[in-house]
Amino acid sequence: MPATPLNGPPSPEEFQRQLGNFMRQHFHGQPVAPSSPAAAEPTPPAEEVVFHFDKKPREVKAYLDRFVIRQEEAKKVLSVALCDHYHHVRLAFEGQPQPNYAKQNIILIGPTGVGKTYLIRSLADLIGVPFVKGDATKFSETGYVGADVEDLVRELLRRANGDVQRAQYGIIYIDEIDKIAAAGNLTGRDVSGRGVQTNLLKLMEETDVPARSPNDIAGQLQAMLDFTQRGKKPAETVNTKHILFIVSGAFTGLEQIARKRLREATIGFAAKTSSLEADAETLQLATTRDFIDYGFEPEFIGRLPVRVFCHPLSADDLFTILKTSEGSIIRQYEQTFAAYGIEVLFRDDGLRRIAELAGEEQTGARGLMTVCERLFREFKFELPSTAVKRFVVTRELVDAPAAALQKLLAEHESEERAVMRQLVQDFAERFAKEHGLKLGFTAAAADRLVVLAQQAQRPVRDFCAERFKDFQFGLKLIAQNTGRTEFELDTDAVEAPDKVLSDWVVASYRPGEPAPAAT
Ligand code: ADP
Repeated sequence: MPATPLNGPPSPEEFQRQLGNFMRQHFHGQPVAPSSPAAAEPTPPAEEVVFHFDKKPREVKAYLDRFVIRQEEAKKVLSVALCDHYHHVRLAFEGQPQPNYAKQNIILIGPTGVGKTYLIRSLADLIGVPFVKGDATKFSETGYVGADVEDLVRELLRRANGDVQRAQYGIIYIDEIDKIAAAGNLTGRDVSGRGVQTNLLKLMEETDVPARSPNDIAGQLQAMLDFTQRGKKPAETVNTKHILFIVSGAFTGLEQIARKRLREATIGFAAKTSSLEADAETLQLATTRDFIDYGFEPEFIGRLPVRVFCHPLSADDLFTILKTSEGSIIRQYEQTFAAYGIEVLFRDDGLRRIAELAGEEQTGARGLMTVCERLFREFKFELPSTAVKRFVVTRELVDAPAAALQKLLAEHESEERAVMRQLVQDFAERFAKEHGLKLGFTAAAADRLVVLAQQAQRPVRDFCAERFKDFQFGLKLIAQNTGRTEFELDTDAVEAPDKVLSDWVVASYRPGEPAPAAT
């Protein structure tokens, strides 16, 4: 067994000291630990930070409407909460903080794939603030086993390209928050839901997070390098006071807690049979008490004053998403095919069928991606290497994509063959014009020429001209000898033109013998 080191990892200070020595040895620089006050640069004069925000809730909702289908109430509540928050941030930046203001952190409740992340991402885009999404199940209390909640803030800083000011009014979105409820929801790892809640609570209140994790060796090195090479003082901490926190989850089981309380409180509360819609309705009645019974610390829930509900999406909703959302994945498919010069048209019956199949997946709008990925896999693989330039997505195509693809390829091939046969004909006509001799091709001969031209990847007319390049001479001789000016070429003539021509010429010198293939 390898010996276990007696000492744990070095303290951050010790680590920095060791790094300093390392840099001195290897880079001959004059590294100084970033936190060393003696070496710190004189602080540059504080830049005037301006934060613009002049949106109104209706405007914000109108923007969300372009992307997010349904979720009307959620869009309204979020628009109001976001406007409140960012007006407050703006005032704080303008030197008029509102000391009694309670931050509008949000708890977003709803099943998977119904637009929770999409709402928040769209909002962050609109306001132009950095956004980071994390997953509550990845965090551990200590940060040794899993990630540290503070990593979220550092990630936000990274998304803000190291701009501490911007990071300080970004949005942190944490999914699967219901998985860190303490009651019966422990994952069995070395993770305490309560501990993670406490750590998150600190972030949601106000704390200064070191810009670089003491455990992040690469980050520490980078900071050191930046400092020695560019004299750029690395950002020390990010304050979380104005960071907006949004947590979300499906909260399975919370509706039961709420239903039980309601039944106890109101004898007449109709115990609706459990259905997705009914559960969603009951969830909206959940109170702070229910969240606490679910396994959340009262302080934690108390820091999340805005509750927003997102509803399950029906097949009709999924159809509307495909058809009207500006973020609809069919646009993505249109672009993917367009990159190969292929135009795809989604007909409504095709979209409806995709929506129905996606509904069966029970993963909200995520089902649309699953269905489309499966549906177009082969089309994406095959079509770019063919000459197919457009196709229509119909119900039949959605139901039997493989057959539809085969049909498309076969149809296209037969169309192309027909054009190529006409080109063979065109060669014969030009030949007649030029040499006064009429060539005819049997159907089999024309087909064979088409195949050979395809194989040689040559234009059909050029291919014919090359193949029959000596024919005008030979045929003119025959015409002189026999007076014949019309000739029919069969597959033999296509396969071995020189041999057939010379046979004909020889025969034309023996009058009386029937010439082969005379028309
Ligand atoms: P979740 O609710 O699990 O956070 P997402 O917001 O990540 O789900 O949804 C996944 C994807 O599905 C989004 O990126 C978006 O393309 C699409 N989507 C989900 N819900 C909607 C909706 N209501 N309107 C339009 N698109 C949606």
